[in-house]
Amino acid sequence: SKPVVAIVGRPNVGKSTLFNVLAGDNIAIVKDTPGVTRDRIYADVNWLDYHFTLIDTGGIEPESKDIILSQMREQAQIAIDTADVIIFLTDVRQGLVDADAKVADMLRRSHKPVVLAVNKVDNFDKFLPDVYEFYNLGIGEPMPVSGASRLGIGDMLDAVVGHF
Ligand code: GDP
Ligand code: MG
Repeated sequence: SKPVVAIVGRPNVGKSTLFNVLAGDNIAIVKDTPGVTRDRIYADVNWLDYHFTLIDTGGIEPESKDIILSQMREQAQIAIDTADVIIFLTDVRQGLVDADAKVADMLRRSHKPVVLAVNKVDNFDKFLPDVYEFYNLGIGEPMPVSGASRLGIGDMLDAVVGHF
């Protein structure tokens, strides 16, 4: 069966925007058992000669800061349990925050392949210097992307399919 790729990251980093760019029209919402896990959104993605299933683990995201970290842990666990490759999405505008580091620790311990993508780099000249701090997460080379401006997507997908 097709490899599974999951997008994990804090609320508002741009997971759904990136998901929609990659998925185009092939989106299906899968409702989980109430109270067990949150709804996930799936899509079939074709990239060059590669075909994979993409999951946006974000679902309905919390407003409250207290539950952001617990929901991120839950998301990350879903990704660890179901994905072959995890896209860990961060936000260059907000910078590296503690919740990123905690989830990065979880992902590192899982030994799953992770592609670390730093989103909202809409202007490479302006924001590229801010991307380097994400090396501190210790999960590999941070790849600058912009879902909204569709920048860096090809390089990121090359890294993803390189793990298949
Ligand atoms: P999610 O909560 O991680 O699913 O994030 P969303 O995809 O819903 O995006 C959160 C906010 O970030 C929205 O206001 C988006 O328009 C904005 N956003 C998403 N991607 C980008 C990007 O590449 N650049 C910029 N500047 N804003 C973005
Ligand atoms: Mg979302």
